[in-house]
Amino acid sequence: MANLILILGDQLSPTISSLADCDKSSDSIFMCEVSEEARYVKHHRKKIAFLFSAMRHFAKELEDEGYRVVYRKFEDSENKGSIEAEIRRQMADGNYEKLLVTHPGEYRVLENLSKLKSDYGISLDILEDDRFFCSTDEFSRWVKGRKQLRMEYFYRDMRRRFSILTEGGAPIGGSWNYDSENRKFPDDDVKTPQTAKFDTDKITEDVLKLVADKFPDHFGEIEPFDFAVTRADALKALNDFVRCRLETFGDYQDAMREGDPWMFHAHISFYLNCGLLNPRECVAAAVDAYERGEAPINAVEGFIRQIIGWREFIRGIYWMMMPGYEALNFFDSKRALPDFYWSGDTMMNCIKDCIHSTKNYAYAHHIQRLMVLGNFALLTGINPKEVSDWFLSVYADAYEWVELPNVIGMALFADGGKLASKPYASGGNYINKMSNYCKSCHYKVSKKSGEGACPFNYLYWDFLARNRTKLEGNPRIGMLYKTYDRMSEEKKAAIAKSSADFLKELD
Ligand SMILES: Cc1cc2nc3c(=O)[nH]c(=O)nc-3n(C[C@H](O)[C@H](O)[C@H](O)COP(=O)(O)OP(=O)(O)OC[C@H]3O[C@@H](n4cnc5c(N)ncnc54)[C@H](O)[C@@H]3O)c2cc1C
Ligand code: SF4
Repeated sequence: MANLILILGDQLSPTISSLADCDKSSDSIFMCEVSEEARYVKHHRKKIAFLFSAMRHFAKELEDEGYRVVYRKFEDSENKGSIEAEIRRQMADGNYEKLLVTHPGEYRVLENLSKLKSDYGISLDILEDDRFFCSTDEFSRWVKGRKQLRMEYFYRDMRRRFSILTEGGAPIGGSWNYDSENRKFPDDDVKTPQTAKFDTDKITEDVLKLVADKFPDHFGEIEPFDFAVTRADALKALNDFVRCRLETFGDYQDAMREGDPWMFHAHISFYLNCGLLNPRECVAAAVDAYERGEAPINAVEGFIRQIIGWREFIRGIYWMMMPGYEALNFFDSKRALPDFYWSGDTMMNCIKDCIHSTKNYAYAHHIQRLMVLGNFALLTGINPKEVSDWFLSVYADAYEWVELPNVIGMALFADGGKLASKPYASGGNYINKMSNYCKSCHYKVSKKSGEGACPFNYLYWDFLARNRTKLEGNPRIGMLYKTYDRMSEEKKAAIAKSSADFLKELD
């Protein structure tokens, strides 16, 4: 008997496990664009357009290859608005033995699909998502017996396990980590190469109109729209990165320049996370470039660390901690998310620029997300749920499995240190060192408190003082309290006053 194979919006990979045993003559592929997924947070309009267009292109490619595809468009009058309702209808309409799906990326979707079995008696097979290097079971085994989970050790094990840039188990180049070489700021004459841009076709044009029409109240600019929406174009984007930016990826990995959203990053997370690219081919492309002598070790190691280290570690943490990870709030932070996270209407130049990028491109690079937007939310004590809903909404690469640990664990330390060994908190000095934002800011980065001082400066010390009982024992941060204690009472009072005034204004 025939099977129904469900392909979710982040499973647009021709080699996805659910397709492996598909019988083209009898099985049907099922894909649907549903309101529940598009609206459960108010996703950026570019993100919705990207995913709908990529899904429609993927469905067409499957049809061209002889698969029977049932595709429910968002605008179909019969569309029931949720994946589960659509599957129930399809299962009732057809004569299917079972529903097959590759393990969904998000806990919420897994729960909903599981209900099809428990509540409606639908026979359901959930297959491993083998697009990741490390399965959730393997990650659980790695975790067992460890007191602390640190990405660095996970990453080294992954390098050894898959023999990536290793020789006889040792790292090529002699070091596992070149982070210390990767903190440069580009001179003015270092121009950022253009990121790959792609023309729209009829499918994308239709989707852009649909999104403009149906999601007028969602955040973000729809146009210009130049994302790749097919695997062939996503591969071109990957090649473009390897050819034009990988060489300097490491050097400028942490740098931020005003009006320069893309810098030397890869800009492939949207393609990786929806399945148009496979992480293995990204790693292989970078290693090949190293072996051809086209990119130095600090760049290639830095890139590989992100893919086989951070990306896999983050996913492992997500499945280990769910459900419940989304509700953690170590600092008991309660403040509402300021409106300028949506409007960009603030005099803090760093935040303004990062929001501008987010709004226009549904993208901001890692240091902008972590050390500007995340850091500000951490220092000012914004409620983690509001912060993570915002991050989930605004980036084209955001899916809960990757967004949540990055926000709860890395940016906000709301898990109390499951993922990171210390909070990524910093004052204005760090931002000034790694960017040119402060040069044209209303605030003075050199001023520590009082009128016109950079808010990050006093908020940093205020955050440490407020959370002393929770942080003083942290071996990586405890010594900062010695510096704080050495400050004069007058200086401490000025920090407290500037912070109280700023936070009052924020509320
Ligand atoms: C608060 C916060 C929220 C984030 N939310 C997301 C998210 O929703 N989706 C997402 O894919 N990434 C997220 N990240 C991680 C990272 O910022 C993005 O992966 C990266 O900016 C994507 O741009 P890029 O492709 O140019 O990446 P590059 O900097 O060029 O890195 C290459 C690739 O490495 C992977 N990678 C790098 N860092 C991470 C990381 N910390 N976690 C997982 N993968 C990583 C990505 O797949 C990325 O494409 C978040 C980081 C922070 C601090
Ligand atoms: S001075 Fe402070 S607020 Fe202004 S850009 Fe620099 S770090 Fe940001």
